[in-house]
Amino acid sequence: MKTLLNVSVLLACCGLAVEAQQAWTVHDRERPNPPVVTPADSAGGNPSDAKVLFDGQSLDAFERVLGGPAKWKVGDGVFSVVPGSGSIQTKEQFGDCQLHVEWASPSPVQGEDQMRGNSGLIMMGMFEIQVLDSYNARTYADGQAGAIYGQYPPLVNASRGPGQWQTYDILFRGPRFDEAGQLTRRTRVTLIHNGVVVQDATELSGPTAYHNRPPYFKVPERGPIVIQEHGTTVRYRNIWIRELAEEQEPLAARSFVALHPDAARFANYAGEYEGGGETLTVSSADGKVTGHLSSPTGRSSGDLDMIPMSDDTFIARQAPGADAVQVLFTRDGKSKVVSAVIFLGGKYVTFVKK
Ligand code: MG
Repeated sequence: MKTLLNVSVLLACCGLAVEAQQAWTVHDRERPNPPVVTPADSAGGNPSDAKVLFDGQSLDAFERVLGGPAKWKVGDGVFSVVPGSGSIQTKEQFGDCQLHVEWASPSPVQGEDQMRGNSGLIMMGMFEIQVLDSYNARTYADGQAGAIYGQYPPLVNASRGPGQWQTYDILFRGPRFDEAGQLTRRTRVTLIHNGVVVQDATELSGPTAYHNRPPYFKVPERGPIVIQEHGTTVRYRNIWIRELAEEQEPLAARSFVALHPDAARFANYAGEYEGGGETLTVSSADGKVTGHLSSPTGRSSGDLDMIPMSDDTFIARQAPGADAVQVLFTRDGKSKVVSAVIFLGGKYVTFVKK
């Protein structure tokens, strides 16, 4: 029997409402396992479910943005931008994806600032991830290699020198809109440049632009990937893409007690424990564990909800949102609970069961 829980949870996230309709129970064996993908034998190679956009032979997967065949130069397993010929784009349209690209800026260096090996990957034809020779080179921060152009500089500058091959591994999630055209999810980009994270789930303010930050406007979920021609002979090789399934819906935290098949075992913890001059009273009812700390001077913690995390480990807190302490129960050789260890006041205090 399917054990879908029909929970509907509205999560407010950055002003965007995300509705989670379904949540599988913990460790549900009816939950489908994901498809199998065979990874590449070597770094940068394409996994079995990738679509190769440039295999070193032809630009058949691309066309000129302004129409007609892509006329960039192909040879020796790479292609080069031909200045003045215009940008190119994939013939196929893509939305959410993982994109692997290798590029090299011109050597010897061509130009300076924004003319120093400028190109770019413009996702859905709207969101540019900058390609630039930024090795020992100055330009504005939100226009250097790894920048979301005009919006976010990379977290660090992980550039290799002119002429050296560099990798971009991009995780892209496009924008979503409701039927009224209202934005429900911002475009999000994670970028790994030469193995270094330079954009970490960065949420874009809208399409990228020169000297402008335009707002979002409703677009389809797919668009072409544009490779920008910006007047310099940047080279590219080994480009592949994997389309990503829809994001997994946010799961709500679920009461462990209600789901755990063996809640009765919690009765083992019930009893009084003494340590550090205080008494810990643990009770168990209806599969729920409650703690109470008290001292001879009358100080009391009030009831502490004890949330099971794993066998013999609980998190205790007074109320949702309150500071929590970890409680670790220990057992003797016969599996009988004998003590509880709590991190209190900066040290571990052992409470011995009476
Ligand atoms: Mg550019």
